[in-house]
Amino acid sequence: MDRYQSFARSGFGRFVVGKLGLPDPYPLRRHSPTGPALDGPVLLGGRGRLVDPVRTTLESIGLDVVAAPGAEAAPGTAAEVSERPAALLFDATGIERVEDLRELHAFFHPVIRSLGPCGRVVVLGTPPASAVSRSAQRALEGFTRSVGKELKRGGTAQLVHVAEGAEGNVESTLRFLLSGRSAYVSGQVVRIGAGPVEVPADWSAPLAGEVALVTGASRGIGAAIAEVLSRDGAHVVCLDVPGQGDALSAVANGVSGSTIQLDITAPDTPARIVDHLVQRHGGVDVVVHNAGITRDRTLGRMDADRWDAVVQVNLACQERLNQALVDSGALRPRGRVVGVSSIAGIAGNVGQTNYATTKAGVIGMVEELAAQFDGTGATANAVAPGFIETRMTAAVPLVIREAGRRMNSLSQGGLPVDVAEAVAWLAHPASAGVNGTVVRVCGQSLLGA
Ligand code: NAD
Repeated sequence: MDRYQSFARSGFGRFVVGKLGLPDPYPLRRHSPTGPALDGPVLLGGRGRLVDPVRTTLESIGLDVVAAPGAEAAPGTAAEVSERPAALLFDATGIERVEDLRELHAFFHPVIRSLGPCGRVVVLGTPPASAVSRSAQRALEGFTRSVGKELKRGGTAQLVHVAEGAEGNVESTLRFLLSGRSAYVSGQVVRIGAGPVEVPADWSAPLAGEVALVTGASRGIGAAIAEVLSRDGAHVVCLDVPGQGDALSAVANGVSGSTIQLDITAPDTPARIVDHLVQRHGGVDVVVHNAGITRDRTLGRMDADRWDAVVQVNLACQERLNQALVDSGALRPRGRVVGVSSIAGIAGNVGQTNYATTKAGVIGMVEELAAQFDGTGATANAVAPGFIETRMTAAVPLVIREAGRRMNSLSQGGLPVDVAEAVAWLAHPASAGVNGTVVRVCGQSLLGA
């Protein structure tokens, strides 16, 4: 908890926060291997093509699924909700006309205020381009994003576009979005496409037997990604510059992984990484381009060295590495490439023309790869973190730091593990339908919204 958050949770703090209408950063529910996925029932509504497969999926993972009060109970479900719902899930794929949008109000209005702490709202829609009414399906975005801004006490809201034929591909995404793994993800639109997905033998170790490469793994977000991918069963190859050798070894030892000490911008690095992965592991399944740097100055004061350094680390070398991994066949057929962008790459930021250029470029990089991978089983996606509590953000001046922390729907900074959980969801074998997506891990930051 940051200092303001501790104050806001104290007796006196609560009083002041309530009286003055100050930001109220509710402690977020995060994943715990021993805790339940949800603290209450899922209220499921709507009348589209997803309601039945989704009910079956949720029940198969042990969630208590109930129909909305007043709605006709589906066989085997309760018509009344005795407990506070932990999630409200609405299948909006049946919304074909603008007039049908009234169904959103009819479902959510009576129950939204009873949603439990850190509650989840998920609206399932059809990709607007393939919908009977584009306006009606596109409208779901404005609805969901506004709900995310209205929810209190750590609640989040997302829209998931499920393509025709992808009804069976939603499990990994629903497990992520409904659980504490998505604590700092809100106001996002996720697309799930059709095509075969691999269901893991064990959902608690979906990456068992796989190899993941994480760059910049010696600290911060990279170290958290290494830990979460290892928790999910992967052998993690942790990469960082030689100067970070001790910290890198500590992370790698902690996850029973291995290390490569290299500067990712060196011309021979892609070939050395390919050699290492092929010789020692026969290839790689998951590649996370996490290493990144900032060299901030306003454009008029930015020398070419600052520009070049950021472009090299944050983008150019990542493209070279992707090319080498694909050309050599080191990236295995079900490969996952995950880029780490930033909301600065979406919104832009003063003093960060170089950084924002590269972080927007990362989005283009994964979109291009995603098109290349389409239909092969491999995917490329990006996460775009907002304000995450790391050394990078600890160095930001106090006033800007406080603004970054509070200017989002959850009124707090995220933790490295929040970014790592989003990476793990994209790396999941059952997430093959999620390709070319950018998911912000920013608590629904106002920047670039
Ligand atoms: P960090 O500075 O703590 O860690 C970055 C790591 O990358 C370091 O270990 C560093 O040694 C390594 N690295 C840098 N240059 C390298 C090179 N040439 N070769 C190999 N390794 C190199 O940063 P962080 O806060 O953990 O951020 C991780 C990623 O998340 C970065 O891409 C960053 O831009 C992005 N991001 C962070 C935030 C945030 O709030 N912290 C927000 C948005 C995006």
